[in-house]
Amino acid sequence: MHAGGEAVAIEFAVKAPGVRDIVICGHSHCGAMAGLLSPETLNDLPAVRSWLSYADSTRRIMRKNYEHIFEADARLTATVEGNVLVQLEHLRTHSSVAVALARKQLNIHGWVYKFETGQVFAYHPIRGQYVLIEGSFLLDLDERDMASILRRTLDCVVARGVLPAERRDEVEAGLLEREQQSESRRSHDDREEQWRTLRRS
Ligand SMILES: [Zn+2]
Repeated sequence: MHAGGEAVAIEFAVKAPGVRDIVICGHSHCGAMAGLLSPETLNDLPAVRSWLSYADSTRRIMRKNYEHIFEADARLTATVEGNVLVQLEHLRTHSSVAVALARKQLNIHGWVYKFETGQVFAYHPIRGQYVLIEGSFLLDLDERDMASILRRTLDCVVARGVLPAERRDEVEAGLLEREQQSESRRSHDDREEQWRTLRRS
C-alpha cells in the first residue's frame, strides 16, 4: 500500500488467504507528505486534509526530531522515510496483524521508492537504516509484483502534478524493465538465501 495508511484495507489484507507480506511503500516527491509539512497548502482540499490526519504522529515526530533540517527536499525525504516507520509501528498494533506476526504468518516491510534513480530502499530493522534493494530477493515477490507495488505510488505524484509527464514516462520505462527482468528471474531458493544473508549482515 502507499504510505497513505489505508487502515481499512489492512484487516482485509491480513485475513485474505495466502497474504504473507505487507509492504508500506513511501516515495520521493510525495505530495501527501509535502502537504503534511505545509498543511496550509491543503485548505482547499478538505478530503486530503482529513486523510492525512492518520499521519499526525509523523508530523509530531518531524517537528521534534528534524527541526534542524531546513532544506525543503531533505525535510521531505526525512518525512517520507519517517512516516513509513510510523505507519509500520501503527500496523504492528493492529490486532489481526499482531496475531499474524506472532504466528510468523506475516512479514511487514517498509520501503521508499526513489523516482529519480528507480532505486528502492527497504528499512532494515537490525541496522536501523534504509538499505538499497538489489533485485527483489527481499520478498517472496518477483519483479512483476514489485513493479505493481511501485506503480501505485505514481498516482500520488501525478495527481498532484509533482512529476512532469515526461518524467513519468521514464519511471514507467524503469518499471517495465523491472517486469521484464522477472522473465529471467533467479530461482526462489536463490532469493531466499540472499535475503537471509542480508538479514544476517
Ligand atoms: Zn505519495
